[in-house]
Amino acid sequence: MKISKDDFSVWEILRSHQIAVVQELDSCFIARMERGLASVLEKNHISYSILDRDIKDRQYLLVYSPSLEPSVLDRLRVLGQAVPVEKETLLFWTEKEDPNLLLPSKFERKALSSESILPYLETPYLSLPPGEKIIERRKNEVIRQIANEVSPQSLRYFVQSLQDFTTRYATTPNCDAAGQFIFNYFQYLGLETKFQAFTFGANYLSRNIIAELRGITYPEDIVIICAHYDSTSNLAPAIAPGADDDASGTAAVMEAARVLSKYPFDFSVRFIAFSAEEFGLYGSKAYASEARDRNERIIGVINLDMIAFADAMPEDLDIIVNPASEWLAERVSLSSEAYALLIIRKIIKSSYPYSDHSPFWDRGYPALCGIEDDPLRNPYYHKVTDTVDKLNFDFFTSSTKAGLATLADLSQPLRAGYPETPKGFTANSKIISSLFSSIKNVTLSWDSVPSVVGYNVYRTGTSHLYYKKINNSLLSGTSFVDRNLKPELRYFYVLTAVDGGGLESNFSREAEALAFTSSSVSQALGSFFLLRLEQR
Ligand SMILES: [Zn+2]
Repeated sequence: MKISKDDFSVWEILRSHQIAVVQELDSCFIARMERGLASVLEKNHISYSILDRDIKDRQYLLVYSPSLEPSVLDRLRVLGQAVPVEKETLLFWTEKEDPNLLLPSKFERKALSSESILPYLETPYLSLPPGEKIIERRKNEVIRQIANEVSPQSLRYFVQSLQDFTTRYATTPNCDAAGQFIFNYFQYLGLETKFQAFTFGANYLSRNIIAELRGITYPEDIVIICAHYDSTSNLAPAIAPGADDDASGTAAVMEAARVLSKYPFDFSVRFIAFSAEEFGLYGSKAYASEARDRNERIIGVINLDMIAFADAMPEDLDIIVNPASEWLAERVSLSSEAYALLIIRKIIKSSYPYSDHSPFWDRGYPALCGIEDDPLRNPYYHKVTDTVDKLNFDFFTSSTKAGLATLADLSQPLRAGYPETPKGFTANSKIISSLFSSIKNVTLSWDSVPSVVGYNVYRTGTSHLYYKKINNSLLSGTSFVDRNLKPELRYFYVLTAVDGGGLESNFSREAEALAFTSSSVSQALGSFFLLRLEQR
């Protein structure tokens, strides 16, 4: 079923009826529904259409078709069933065979999950107007050093080595060998490294490679940089060099591991090479679902997929995010401006789930996809001609620098001579209601940091952006109450410690004061939603 997003009540109705949403797109949701539930949508005047019936065990592929011409549909309908869902999106399936093997390799695809993403859907919410960007403009010498260590020779070595496996088509032993090569490299760097095995398609087996650099201050808070090391082509499984797609992203992940493993960070950094992306994102799906089951605290995911081909110079780097991850794209822009001198093009597009960021979106984690062009302009895409000689190493080095600078900015390198980053930072909200109004008080607390003179608290309405200091003079205790806030708004806080010389530490982890959602406040919220709609 396709359910239109034309009204804010849609989210609430999906929730109250526990409808199994399996994909979010810009204009609609795709859901698996019992026939009887359609009447609920009708009763609430929500537009929907039926995409397929009797769906039981069928495997569906979401397919990207930037020019959704009738000829494309006609060609796909010779192979199986194809139904347009949105402007650039169609649904493809077959009656008997694996739809993946029938769909020509030139189409970007995502295997639709059968698990509901309903619990992780972000309802559009009210936010404070953005503050100034001053804080983000602080230059960090360690991040600059990290960006400058990115080496084109090193990137070339990684891409050439991956290409030399001849094929990395996920069902082949060569792909396995490429995975072993990446594993060995991470281990050689001294990182804690492991395989994650998973099955896909007709009982094939493949492995993700996961390496970790454990954070010093908040080891449970994780920043991820990832790419897929499997590849495909018009002559797959025999030959699939996949230099741009996605040896380039994998090389950037390996380069990130090489450079960052020499530094200590506040938060843990994970370097991940996924497999079976080309079959429909199976490796990243296996990882993201397990991460959610363990309730891993993932701050953000930087997924790099095709970052080395320039159809024209200067080439910019496209950063694709969903609305909940928009802050990540802003942080890439800021890092890139400060440390990589590369132009970033932000694209907010839930309708682009065709790479390894998407399973993270489905599990409620912020994630971005860094890609040279959307839609793609690389003429060698998914062909045997996607080889290292077609890459532009000036652009590739810059895009890798932008990725590494963002990764370092999010995971926060410790700086010699600066106060320790405050640990144990938490926020607790309390609502105080009278007959006519409610307010929210937020109590912040933290562990004391040795040999500092005080602390600063920063607040924002937009997670991870526009932090604004809210204390007038340095705080000397280990708690602070932020009073008289609006219950229906979300607030985000970070804390710093300041020493006698005036040096200020890195930010603590971000603590969130949740929006209050009791029925009394949510009634008021309804009118706010209307307001927000009009402002758009
Ligand atoms: Zn790719």
